[in-house]
Amino acid sequence: MNDAPVKLEPRDLTEESRLNAIAAHVGEIIRLLGLDPATDINLEGTDRRVAKMYLEIFSGLNEGLRPEITSFANEERYTSMVIERDIPFYSTCVHHFVPFHGHGHIAYIPNGKIVGLSKLPRLLDFYARRPQLQERLTEQVASFLDEELKPKGVMVVIEARHLCVEMRGVKKPGALTVTSAIRGVFQEKAVRDEFLTLLNRRNQ
Ligand SMILES: [Zn+2]
Repeated sequence: MNDAPVKLEPRDLTEESRLNAIAAHVGEIIRLLGLDPATDINLEGTDRRVAKMYLEIFSGLNEGLRPEITSFANEERYTSMVIERDIPFYSTCVHHFVPFHGHGHIAYIPNGKIVGLSKLPRLLDFYARRPQLQERLTEQVASFLDEELKPKGVMVVIEARHLCVEMRGVKKPGALTVTSAIRGVFQEKAVRDEFLTLLNRRNQ
């Protein structure tokens, strides 16, 4: 095998050739860990399974830079807070390539445009399905809604557990990382408090 790194242009490759190339590298990692797929039946096909899984959990990378989420005219003239809370999500830490997962809470106060409620979980998923930072994920969801809907304000809160924190390094099982991103009127304490109060109801 050639020692020089192979320069791949992923977007020029077919799905099948990407799968094969990733599987070959995963197989190499397995062998470098001292494992022998020839003698352990459980490792048979692990290289391809991992490659397939990467292509699935990182599928957001193929979908482009912006999600295709359509907005509608706010014909009801609804001007109070819209909240979609406790949205489960799974993502992958860009630093360690292990999962972080938890819940997102998204709130906005409409202006002229609104978005279907089922689109908010899809939006979170779109940005989660790629190697990510929780901080960036939070900001990307808020920025998209801010740019797309031009609402009075947006706030996104994400609470997540990071396996890179729980399984390795400082090993703090159960530690929760909380991030928030704020746009527009959510900079006012009263607006923020309304959202946070509505979020906290789930504990009562
Ligand atoms: Zn990490």
